[in-house]
Amino acid sequence: MKFRYLMSIVGAGLLGSMLVGCSQDKQETAPAKAVEAPAPKTINWKLVTTWPKNFPGLGEAPEHFAKEVDRMSNGRLKIKVYGAGELVPALEVFDAVSQGTAEAGHGAAYYWKGKVPAAQFFATVPFGLNAQELNSWVSYGGGLELWEEVYEPFGVIPMLGGNTGVQMGGWFNKEINSLEDLQGLKMRIPGLGGEVLQRAGGTPVQLPGGEIFTALQTGTIDATEWVGPYNDLAFGLHKAAKYYYYPGWHEPGTALEFTFNKKAFEALPEDLQAIVEIAAKAINQDMLDEYTARNNSALEELVNNHGIEVRRYPDEVLAQLKVISKQTVKEIADNDPAVKKVYDSFESFRAKVEKYHEISEKAYINAR
Ligand code: CA
Repeated sequence: MKFRYLMSIVGAGLLGSMLVGCSQDKQETAPAKAVEAPAPKTINWKLVTTWPKNFPGLGEAPEHFAKEVDRMSNGRLKIKVYGAGELVPALEVFDAVSQGTAEAGHGAAYYWKGKVPAAQFFATVPFGLNAQELNSWVSYGGGLELWEEVYEPFGVIPMLGGNTGVQMGGWFNKEINSLEDLQGLKMRIPGLGGEVLQRAGGTPVQLPGGEIFTALQTGTIDATEWVGPYNDLAFGLHKAAKYYYYPGWHEPGTALEFTFNKKAFEALPEDLQAIVEIAAKAINQDMLDEYTARNNSALEELVNNHGIEVRRYPDEVLAQLKVISKQTVKEIADNDPAVKKVYDSFESFRAKVEKYHEISEKAYINAR
């Protein structure tokens, strides 16, 4: 629609120019090709990511985004995607976008918790919202406005950029039968989940995806979580650990994010801004669809071809982690007004959506 509308404007402009040209020819005998429609200006952007170049799902999402923006803008906005470390290191994406080193980024908001503690709520919260609910909070529950406010001091505009769905609990080389088994455990686990592990007696480590396998294999870490079967298989984590635990209490539906340098985004003409927004929305949904489609076959491969043992965290462990999670998140919020504002919105939305989902999504899943 937008493209056709644009073409009609360009077409009318050309016709107008030709008519003007004709009348000028008669009156002033000016050269016939005096007025031509200017060629559309191509804008070139760089997009930096937290993921290895073209990593399944996570790394492909920004590539798809760039392709769709190119297609919808008829080549007026070209976005070159850089994998982690190609232009900036994985965990410097936010800074690069803030400083304008790159106009855009793709990552997850909890990676910036050291700089922006409130950002974590826009990635995931232990025992918090699932993918469907988080999308809903951001788009229709006031989340996006708060997210924009949180990134505003850094000159960064956020948009949802995909969701993994409920993640897996993680990879371990020993069984987790009680909370004691987490004591002293050095585990790669980002965001608020990491804070919870710490209070449960473990040692959280924040590592970008591309460094996890080596860290686990060499014993730098004892355990790790990454995403789910589709992504964990791609990194070969099954070669470095035996037990694969579920559910991912710490990441019940992690949102990925697109970030945009505010000045660069605001310098775009309005139609290109709309194209960027709509492409981000499309990619956000597309990633969840892809993960939903691919996770189970990857899990079957892990179990049938690689001998992985899938284990459920014991109910008691989950119950204890839930208590610690609720306390941890509340305490972090109570100590920081900026976090508290986001926490209050998140919690009030969660209470409402959970109540309705008891008799809708959850009731149906239990009944089918
Ligand atoms: Ca994860």
